[in-house]
Amino acid sequence: MFVFQYPGVIRLRIKHILDSWSKILRGHTPMLSIEITRECPLHCPGCYAYGDDHLGGDVTLRQLSDKRGDDLVRGVLGLVDQHKPLHVTLVGGEPMIRHRELSRILPELSARGIYSMVVTSGIIPIPAEWMSLYRFTAAISIDGLPEHHNVRRYPATYDRILENIAGRLVNVHWTITAPMLERPTYLEEYVRFWATRDEVRHIWVSLYSPQRGEQSAEMLSPEQREFVARELPRLRQEYPKLLAGSGFSAALLHPPASPKECTFSRLSKNYSADLVTRVEPCVFGGDPDCSQCGCSASAAAQWICEAKVAGPLKGKHILHGSMRIGSAVAHLQHVARPAWRERERSGQKQEGKLVQISMD
Ligand code: SF4
Ligand code: SF4
Repeated sequence: MFVFQYPGVIRLRIKHILDSWSKILRGHTPMLSIEITRECPLHCPGCYAYGDDHLGGDVTLRQLSDKRGDDLVRGVLGLVDQHKPLHVTLVGGEPMIRHRELSRILPELSARGIYSMVVTSGIIPIPAEWMSLYRFTAAISIDGLPEHHNVRRYPATYDRILENIAGRLVNVHWTITAPMLERPTYLEEYVRFWATRDEVRHIWVSLYSPQRGEQSAEMLSPEQREFVARELPRLRQEYPKLLAGSGFSAALLHPPASPKECTFSRLSKNYSADLVTRVEPCVFGGDPDCSQCGCSASAAAQWICEAKVAGPLKGKHILHGSMRIGSAVAHLQHVARPAWRERERSGQKQEGKLVQISMD
């Protein structure tokens, strides 16, 4: 997260922003996300990774031929060589199924000065030696208090997670769903539990992000979204580990209209388990409903874009100018097309399709 307002992490965050900017100017896509395995021992209801349309509808994650051992290590580092990202996120399925390969990949990324993050259910212990890796983050998905999480994410229950993160330092990632908002004190109960644990460095929050046309019990109503956006900054005052201040919360209320407008989507490339198939237009895949997006990464990017830099100049003005320069540099140097150029092209295709439909 690019959270430059928090004391104690200020240098890292500003450096992160400057490094990202430098990548964009050189035509490189700063963020790379890879689903390194199709396997997962959990069966979370509504898991988007195993949805029929996650990879566009022609193939599903379970049908892909994934890699392991030397092939996986070489394949991941090959994508890194190709795209030269600043930040690599390794997800699944359950990425810790491939912890042996990760124990070879993560030190290599660290040695190259690349930030890395493994997003896991916490079902497998995080190796203690990973904690000393420079620029590495382990993120554990913990979706609510035990009454919800232990049902939804069994067998990665609270007890199992606490056992597997003992003595480690991790970030908690929490996706808020509508049933968690039936009790007014729920948000605070959750934050208090995790913020007071020594193993937790930060807590990140996302809101449940549906696909277009979805009608599910997890989806937040507009009123619930406003309630969360009011509560998070208040809780942050009391629990500084919660990375959800007023700027971030305001961004949650105004998600991008489409992937073409989504800064997070425009700055990232996402690969699935065969290391060839792309996850589009963002990590959710399928046909996400951007107007109800609650993705923490997208909200953080949106917030930075709206932040005032000097006078009327906002973050987005610098970013968009840099993207234009980066596009020209990528073209001249024949590097892989940056993600923001791909997004513009897919947006044009989408608009073309819509025109055809209306003429029929
Ligand atoms: S842990 Fe993640 S990949 Fe596995 S079923 Fe749950 S949501 Fe899906
Ligand atoms: S991350 Fe961006 S592209 Fe994906 S659903 Fe959210 S707003 Fe849309």
